[in-house]
Amino acid sequence: MTSEEIISLLDSPSQKDKEFIQKAYDFALKVHEGQVRKSGEPYFIHVFETAKILASLKMGATTIVAGLLHDSVEDGVATEATIKKEFGDEVLFLVNGVTKLGKVKYRGAERHVESLRKFLVAAAQDVRVLIIKLADRLHNMRTLQYVRPDKQKRIALETLEIYAPLAYRLSIRMLSRELEDLSFEYVYPAEYEKIKSLLKSKREESIPEMDKFLKTLKKALAAEEIIHFKSDYRQKGIYSLYKKLKTHDNDINKIYDILAIRISVDNVADCYKVLGIIHSIARPIPGRIKDYIAFPKPNGYKSLHTNVLTGDGATIEVQIRTFEMHHDSEYGIASHILYKEKGSVKQKENSESKWFKQFLPKIINYSKTPDNSELAPGWINELAESQKNIKTEKDKDGFIEDLKADFFNDRIFVLTPKGDVVDLPVDSCALDFAFAIHSDIGIHTSGAKINNKMVSLDTKLNNSDIVEIIIKGSSKPSSKWLEIAKTNMAKRHISNYLEKNKTKNQIPRQK
Ligand code: MN
Repeated sequence: MTSEEIISLLDSPSQKDKEFIQKAYDFALKVHEGQVRKSGEPYFIHVFETAKILASLKMGATTIVAGLLHDSVEDGVATEATIKKEFGDEVLFLVNGVTKLGKVKYRGAERHVESLRKFLVAAAQDVRVLIIKLADRLHNMRTLQYVRPDKQKRIALETLEIYAPLAYRLSIRMLSRELEDLSFEYVYPAEYEKIKSLLKSKREESIPEMDKFLKTLKKALAAEEIIHFKSDYRQKGIYSLYKKLKTHDNDINKIYDILAIRISVDNVADCYKVLGIIHSIARPIPGRIKDYIAFPKPNGYKSLHTNVLTGDGATIEVQIRTFEMHHDSEYGIASHILYKEKGSVKQKENSESKWFKQFLPKIINYSKTPDNSELAPGWINELAESQKNIKTEKDKDGFIEDLKADFFNDRIFVLTPKGDVVDLPVDSCALDFAFAIHSDIGIHTSGAKINNKMVSLDTKLNNSDIVEIIIKGSSKPSSKWLEIAKTNMAKRHISNYLEKNKTKNQIPRQK
């Protein structure tokens, strides 16, 4: 293990970047000294591997440094002050963000899944926090065999229902695919084995045919002077095949894209040229030529797909795209961040989080459509489009404000002390929270704590506040509560209570 292993994954790191990463590497090595993981390995390996995942996503030095330090404050081995002094505000902000996300607990309850995802997005504030968290989770999933079996299942289910879909929504297929496949194995072991062996036999059957076809194709490409291209095989993810089989009568013969040849070229014109060459050496199957370049998928995916008959009775799918399209589909939002980190010489504090907030509403709004787990956002492209009209700093602020107004003024996400997510309308106060938990708790509320500090019941809640309600048997609603409460639910409970007790008081007590 050396910092060079991390740095070598980056495209063209500056000397400053290298030194910054080296410094964080040394620091993490020192603070985690003596700590061991469940596997018996030094704890440092975990933060090192997390940083390596971030480097392979081509994240900037700041994010990689935060990845190396992401567990140092949580574990109490380093203080916030030290991180701030040694690595600056931005790194501290990222580390704290990751620590905060770690407090959320997933209990597998169906109705919480969506609010939990939204919470993560809202609480992250900066997309880099989410990406570090995803990298952290990926390494934990890669080493899940060392964890107690009952915990394995919970963590895997949480990954499958919360983290993998988040990675997918950020269009980082590189992460979502592996997160899905690793957790699938623990959540549905029997199905996993079945699909895995299906894939294996499919591979054994198809690879020789594909090799043969690819040889012919390469010759044909060379003859047409397409010299700069890359070819490889693309295999469908195990979990993604499982999901697709479910919608295709569990008939593997109805799924054509399990294995495909992938050709990457320099530009769009070459994509169509390659398609023409393929169709000249093998007969395409009508109806299975897809032009996702002219008509991208809703998630922004671009590529040309065709299925051809090789003449030996085999059908082969070929996918053609530019290097850039390939990069976008694997790295998604991550590729936009690097641009941002490198593009600004001196970053204003929080500009990154402001930038990310533009994306937030789309992610949140996106999840409102039912049954959309197959889709990912087209918002990266949409955003790029709408941003073209932004000329001045004022336009930009207006744009962000509009987006925020549409969605952010909608709900806030707060936590119970146990880490359950409660979503409430914006402007809700501690008292609303109490009634949202349970009407009995609401009725007997005597006080509230927000982030461990005593507050009055009318205190407004903010995203990711941890709210604790103090109850007393003798506490009861007063008419003043009706003015404090913002949610209709709380108001209704309060007025019902007041109504009932008014009646009670009017009835003379009987002995
Ligand atoms: Mn960690």
